[in-house]
Formats: sequence, C-alpha cells, structure tokens
Amino acid sequence: MATVETRALTKRFETANAVDGIDLAVREGEFLVLLGPSGCGKTTLLRMLAGLETPSAGEVLIGGRTVTHLPPRARNIAMVFQSYALYPHLSVYRNIAFPLAAVGMPRREVADKVAQAASMFGIQRLLERKPRQLSGGERQRVALARAVVRNPVVFLLDEPLSNLDAKLRTSARDELQQFQRRLGTTTVYVTHDQIEAMGLGDRIAVLDHGRVRQLGTPLEVYHEPADTFVATFLGSPPMNLMDDGPVSCGFRPEHLLPRESFPAGDTVVDFPLAVTRIEHLGADRLVYATLQPPHPQTRVVCRLPSNVPAPLETGRRYEFALRPGELRYFDRETGLKRPAAPT
Ligand code: ATP
Repeated sequence: MATVETRALTKRFETANAVDGIDLAVREGEFLVLLGPSGCGKTTLLRMLAGLETPSAGEVLIGGRTVTHLPPRARNIAMVFQSYALYPHLSVYRNIAFPLAAVGMPRREVADKVAQAASMFGIQRLLERKPRQLSGGERQRVALARAVVRNPVVFLLDEPLSNLDAKLRTSARDELQQFQRRLGTTTVYVTHDQIEAMGLGDRIAVLDHGRVRQLGTPLEVYHEPADTFVATFLGSPPMNLMDDGPVSCGFRPEHLLPRESFPAGDTVVDFPLAVTRIEHLGADRLVYATLQPPHPQTRVVCRLPSNVPAPLETGRRYEFALRPGELRYFDRETGLKRPAAPT
C-alpha cells in the first residue's frame, strides 16, 4: 500500500498537452477512478504513473518517493490493461506464476502464491487451461490474479472490464471492488464509463483536455459538480442546463417531476413544460420536453420513476416543479459553479 502523487505532471505530444499539469494525490488504500471522455489523457496519465511514458514535465511520487525517471519494474506497481496480454502458449498457472518465476522465487513459494491468488479470484479449476480456452471474464480474472501475485503497492488498471459483456461486467465490478477492499492496495483505475466510476471509486477525478476538472467522491461530483463539463458528463441523461442571464441554471432529470408528486405545502419552483417525446425504459420514463414561460424556452429531460404514474402525452403542457435546493448555478461564461443564485 502506498500513496501516489503527481506534481504538475505534463505530457506533450507534438503540439498539444495530452496531460496538462496535473496535481493529484491518491491516498493509501484508496480506489481512485480517472474518468473522462475519449482522448482526455487518462491512459497517458496512467502510463506515466506506471513508468511506460516519460513525462515532459512534472513529477510522480509513489509512497512519498520520487519515481519519475524509474523504470516500471522499480516502482512496485501492477498493471492490468484493456488487452490483458496473457501469454497464449502458457497455462493459466504459468501465466500467474510468470512474474514470480521471473524474479527467481523458489517453486514451492510460487505454488503457494499462485494457489492463493487463484482462490481469491475463483479460478482454481482453470489453472491447467490455456488462455484461448477461457471466456473473456475468466481471462480478466487471470490477468488480475497475475497482477496481485507480486503484492504490489499500487494497482494501475486501464479499462480492465471493457472486454466483458454487460452482465459479467456488473459481477466483475463487484468482485474487483471486494478484492481491492480486502487487499487494501492503492488503486488507480481508468474508465470512460461513468457507471463504473460511480460504482467503484472512493473518489473520482474527472478529466477533460488533460486537466482535472474535479476530484471528489462519486456523490460530490454527481450532486455538486464543479462546472458545466462535469455536470453534463455525469448522469444519463446529463444535468439539464437553462441559460438565465449571466448564469446557467442546472437540475438533474430525476428532480424535475410533475407538480402533484410533491406533497402539498412543499416549497417548489414551478417549471411548466410541453412534452415532445416519451421513452419508456421499464423502471423509468424519460420525458423530453420544452420549458415554457416564464422560463426561457429550453429543451430538458425528466426522469420519472415508474412509481410516479402521472399520465403524460406528447404534445401537451404540464405543470412540473422541483425543489429549490436541487438547483445548481454556473457562470455562463466560465462554466464554473457559483455558490447560489445571483440576486
Ligand atoms: P481513450 O479513452 O480513448 O483511451 P484517453 O483519455 O485514455 O482516451 P489518451 O490515450 O491518454 O486518452 O490520449 C490523450 C491525447 O494524447 C489524445 O489526443 C491522443 O491522440 C494523444 N496521444 C496519445 N498517445 C500519443 C502518442 N504516442 N503520440 C501522439 N499523440 C498521442
């Protein structure tokens, strides 16, 4: 277990900074997720932590020690990337044992370690198979077992679940979190999938154009986004934004509900709207609509849970509302969060 820190870490490719002066401090034992759209610099940042990419400027510290110019093997880290890169001609056993054998560990000790890792990931019965005889999910577990076997102080994971189908992904996410908790190994995890980020991270660093837009717990970045980028990157559908003079006013789709679904006497802000389209998703209904005066005409989405039975029809107007505490304000020019409504 160790802390991971970056100081003004920068990577310049040709003309642009893929990573642009990032200061990050990952706590001991923490599960930190790097989340952001494609091309925002997540992988480049992770590769610099791993020692696979040389920074153009700045520093990397692991366990308080500067490792910026140390090779990967001197950093005591384990990496699992999207392509697991198992050795196809070796059995699962030998794949897992490989990093131990490579450092000359005695065979009996290797056998113990492999057995331990295999039992942790539930792959004991697969030890004699070759990678091609495994499913995607099993391969992923082998890759993780190979990563943990050396007792690294840091795990660096780059979209390790992206090759799995949706169902397996959910269970793999759950397993991964349990292993990480049990081992207590500091973990930095790259994904562009916000559900994965919300479900796995102790904290999430939301990246855009090589910079950290916000670092916070999943609930912080969801409920108190630092700017309109974070507000609209997280959430599906994303936060609604309504321009109102110098501010953008934001609210989540699940908070804008039919007026009558709030208890009488509750303070609410009225949002009359005209419904343009309705999508039935099973557990929820997505209602696409246009806000009506006194609000500026703005397209919004509401998410109604199935226990809000209001009969709604496309093309008609309805009284919707939300609690004032659910409104967020952003500066229209900078996109940055403002503490409260301007007076
Ligand atoms: P994705 O989710 O698509 O993998 P990412 O957030 O991991 O994206 P990076 O792979 O870190 O993004 O890339 C960040 C930026 O740096 C991109 O604009 C990419 O084109 C550029 N880039 C990455 N590697 C190189 C390279 N070796 N040479 C030149 N440009 C690169």
